[in-house]
Formats: sequence, C-alpha cells, structure tokens
Amino acid sequence: MKRVFSGVQPTGNIHIGNYLGALRQFVELQNDNECIYCIVDMHSITVPQQPQELRQHILDVAALYLAIGVDPKKATVFVQSDVPGHAELSWVLTCSAYTGELSRMTQFKDKSKGRESAPAGLFTYPVLMAADILLYDTHVVPVGNDQKQHIELCRDLAIRINNKYGETFVVPEGRFLKEGARIMALDEPTRKMSKSAENPLSRISLLDDESKIKKAIMKSTTDSEGEVRFDIENKPGISNLMNIYSSFSSLSIEDIQKKYQGCGYGDFKKDLVQVTAEALRPIREQYEEIRHSQELIDVLKEGAEKANDISEKTMLRVKERFGLGFGK
Ligand code: ATP
Ligand code: MG
Repeated sequence: MKRVFSGVQPTGNIHIGNYLGALRQFVELQNDNECIYCIVDMHSITVPQQPQELRQHILDVAALYLAIGVDPKKATVFVQSDVPGHAELSWVLTCSAYTGELSRMTQFKDKSKGRESAPAGLFTYPVLMAADILLYDTHVVPVGNDQKQHIELCRDLAIRINNKYGETFVVPEGRFLKEGARIMALDEPTRKMSKSAENPLSRISLLDDESKIKKAIMKSTTDSEGEVRFDIENKPGISNLMNIYSSFSSLSIEDIQKKYQGCGYGDFKKDLVQVTAEALRPIREQYEEIRHSQELIDVLKEGAEKANDISEKTMLRVKERFGLGFGK
C-alpha cells in the first residue's frame, strides 16, 4: 500500500482551484492508499495572520476535508503544529538545502514581490513542505500544478541526503490531474486562482452560495470574440471557465465546445453557474453539519496521535543517520 500525504494552508477562502487541483484527489486516493491529510498551519504564518482568525481557519479547513468526503476512518487528518516532527525535520533539511535553489522558487518570488524585506519563513517555506512530505515516508503527493517546483526540490533533498548519509528517505512523486491542476483567477486568467488574492471576485470559494457564484462567473474576464472555444494562449478566460465546467460535469472540453457552438458567453456562463452551484451544494450542507461538532475535534486529536507515532520513528532514523543526540 502506498503512503499519500498532502496539506492545505488555513489561509481562509478555500476555493474551487484548491478543490479541483488537490482536494478532489484526497477522496479518490483514500480507498486504496494509506492517506495522511494535514492542515499546514505553520506554512500559513509565513504571511501575517490574526491569531483568533487562524484558529477558526484551521477548523474550517478540517471541516472542509470531511465535508468533501475525506473519511477519518480511512485517512489520518491532523494539524501540522500538533506534530513537532515537522519543525524538527525542517531544520535538518534546511542544513542540506542551498540558498541558490531556494531563491529560484517562483512562489517565493511571487509572494515577496514588492517588499523590501520578506520574512525568512517565506524563503524556507519549500523546506518545511519537504519535511512535511518526507516525515511520513510518502510515496505520492496529490497537489496542484503550482507545487511542481516545490515537489522537485523535495525530491532533490531526499536524493541528496540518501546519497550522503545512506538510505534515509522515500523519494516521493507529485500527482497532478490533467484537468483542474491549475485553475486561473476569474478576474485575471493569466494568474492562478488564490486564497490570498485581494479581489474576492477572483475566486469561487467552496462555501459560496449560488448568488455569489453567479456574481463571480458573470463578471469573469473573457474576450471580445464571443466564441466558446478552448485556446489557453489566446482565450485564457473562456478556456479557464471551460476547464471548470468540464471538471464539475461529465462533459469533456470537446463536448462543451460542441454544446455551445454558436451560443454567446452569456448562455454558457449561466449554465456554468448552475453546474458549479449544484456541485458545491452538498459540500456546503455537509460542512454546516460538521464544523461545530465534537467529532471534528476528536478526529484532529486522534489524527495528531497517529501522525506523531509515524513521525517519531522517522526522526529517530534521521537523528541516527546524522549522528544527532547522544544515542539513547
Ligand atoms: P495561498 O494563496 O495562501 O498560497 P493557495 O490557494 O495557493 O493559497 P494552498 O493552501 O497554498 O492554497 O494550496 C493548497 C493546494 O491547492 C495545493 O495542492 C495547491 O497546489 C492547490 N492549488 C492552489 N491553487 C490552485 C489553483 N489555482 N488550481 C489548482 N490547484 C491549486
Ligand atoms: Mg499556495
């Protein structure tokens, strides 16, 4: 059985990009693999957070995991900072990572753009992410396309350490979907949809009701040609919407193109509102039931215990390989 690990940051506004790129895979993989799903709160403090809000956002993400269909009887669900191994391993990996390779990470460049000085945590973020993955001897990491570079770095670190210190880590692989792996912002379809983007109309949150979905889709940026045709290069807006439509329905991109031949964007967008609202309704209903339940707290407590057991074993191995500690 393969081990699967992934995480989402509790930075609020979980959107359909997160769902179609990553979360949907969480459910798909849980039947045939040993899955570990984390709420990566230590990653979220690489940018400023309000402490009270952060606590709520952690529980929001946990509830969303369950609402989309993650089954705590099959998968381990826990909060990153409840397992000290993440920070511990992160330091060890930091000492094997090069500043040159970290400064090439596009997420760091994006998130630190326009700042005179960025938090060091934003720079070392990919190392903490590598620690998250390697701590659990992970084989498969289901994520969106934007994480490709970070997964590559994680693999490089694992291979580098295995070569230098002897077999220590499993070298993981990223798992990216064909459709949904990169959902673009609705207002600016050349940027990825993001939780932290300022304009709320740039995204559809998983908990949005029909009226919010309608507003975001009807206002989304397209082009003046008015033809529903897939062409990422020249028509990024409508192509992104077609991608969303296809991901939420059983229709392929070609099916959609045929269906809306000769129709304007208005009709297409109206149908997309319906398709999206239908797909998100059950998630919202489940979420309402779970969010304030004792079950949620119990799942996180139990999950942290299980994750701790695995991570302690990995840390013993790492310390032994590196010669850390006095060797009790
Ligand atoms: P932030 O802006 O705070 O970084 P985010 O939207 O990038 O938020 P993350 O918590 O960093 O969300 O990522 C969670 C998962 O969602 C990752 O697997 C990531 O690859 C995936 N993901 C994020 N944005 C998209 C997107 N636009 N399309 C597809 N997958 C995405
Ligand atoms: Mg992100």
